[in-house]
Amino acid sequence: MYSIRRWVVRHARSVETAYRMFEPVVIKLAPFWNWVGYQRAEKPVGQVEKLSKELLFDCKMCGQCVLSATGMSCPMNCPKSMRNGPCGGVLQNGHCEVLPDKRCVWVDAWEGSQKMQGGDQIHAVQLPVDHRLQGSSSWLRVARKSSDDAPHNNQEGRDD
Ligand code: SF4
Repeated sequence: MYSIRRWVVRHARSVETAYRMFEPVVIKLAPFWNWVGYQRAEKPVGQVEKLSKELLFDCKMCGQCVLSATGMSCPMNCPKSMRNGPCGGVLQNGHCEVLPDKRCVWVDAWEGSQKMQGGDQIHAVQLPVDHRLQGSSSWLRVARKSSDDAPHNNQEGRDD
């Protein structure tokens, strides 16, 4: 919902704080996801992620969330899916040339990032979207990556 998406950007700092509290919980649950099986967890977790992020960010479930680097403004709402800043078509009033009744998501991204503690991440170069991940859960991907990167797992990997 557009008005909620705009509200979130205006309150990017609070949303960032909430996410910083939420992320460790998802990561801590990694043994549970391992036990259930990531594939089996994908459907229920993906549904919860979709419902909550659709409401807050107009999320398109790209599967590789970059909200913390884009001022809590989802770049997949850009009609050109620009992941590294705006195209050359931002109107003088900061709106989108394709959807002139809406603000450019990257104008919002910049404003949101300026409110965030980790706002500098907006300078990070994002990889192109991997469309094979469309519809999958970013939360589970974060948990899995953190679990795979954990030192004990690396040790296990070396012992194999
Ligand atoms: S970046 Fe991807 S996962 Fe994150 S809110 Fe946008 S569409 Fe959803």
